[in-house]
Amino acid sequence: MSSDRLFRGPIDLHTHSRVSDGTESPAQLVRAAAEAGLGTVALTDHDSTAGWAEASTAAVGNGITLIPGMELSTRVEWSSVHMLAYLFDPNNAKLVAETARIREARLHRAEEMVARIGRDYDLEWDDVVAQTEPGSTVGRPHIADALVARGLVSTRSEAFEGILHWRAGYYQPHYAPDPLAAIELVVAAGGVPVMAHPATRSRTDVALEGRMRSYADAGLFGLEIDHRENTPEGRVRLRALATKYGLALTGSSDYHGEGKPNRLGENTTAPEVVDALIARATGTTPIYA
Ligand code: AMP
Ligand code: FE
Ligand code: FE
Ligand code: ZN
Repeated sequence: MSSDRLFRGPIDLHTHSRVSDGTESPAQLVRAAAEAGLGTVALTDHDSTAGWAEASTAAVGNGITLIPGMELSTRVEWSSVHMLAYLFDPNNAKLVAETARIREARLHRAEEMVARIGRDYDLEWDDVVAQTEPGSTVGRPHIADALVARGLVSTRSEAFEGILHWRAGYYQPHYAPDPLAAIELVVAAGGVPVMAHPATRSRTDVALEGRMRSYADAGLFGLEIDHRENTPEGRVRLRALATKYGLALTGSSDYHGEGKPNRLGENTTAPEVVDALIARATGTTPIYA
């Protein structure tokens, strides 16, 4: 019942800090969430829980309920698929080992991409290091920031449309587990998996649809339907999949600070869905405001 609820809305279940490819510290992000009028926010940095402690402290100070989370990198064939994970045990040994492996693979992949880019442009690995918080999950956004700092492009988006696009010839994939393995890892750590923005590109989306029964059987909780990158046609398919497999539907901003146009709270998740998400989790609890 709503009167028993320990958290307030609006609820935004997908945000990034400088611990991965956002531009704000976890504390700044939580303050921005309070200023945006949110009641509950999930911190979901890529492949890392390093921001949880700082975000928790800031949440208490700003009247925000924090749902600790992560956005796990996974891969189907050659396409990258993102798996949101909430309220898992951050000390689960298998999950800790797998995220460390992914971060390491991301680092080597970024170094190799920069070496390739450096043959054609005035860019060195040190330029990327200068744009990256020590210990954070390195991704193409940090290479983009280095390209901006070098004056080779004017924004992250321009970098993604040009030099960092796979068509440009510098792109390289990195190791990431299969989505099914990621779901199993998160569930074994007491967490709740939700597939991030699953309807952005048709080829991968079709591959995912064929596997959805196995994902649901393994404990997938929901699909992130309200996300600015999901196509209108894709959302219709996601709604049908959710009905067919008994999956919840979430909505969120995928805020990256100034790194993307996405604004906090531009999409939100229903409180009833968050009730069910919290009830499912056994790994850890929200930090209630
Ligand atoms: P990576 O995982 O290293 O291949 O980089 C993908 C990340 O880049 C995603 O998590 C997005 O947050 C970010 N990204 C993708 N497209 C853009 C864009 N146009 N502008 C800014 N960031 C982007
Ligand atoms: Fe990102
Ligand atoms: Fe994502
Ligand atoms: Zn994200």
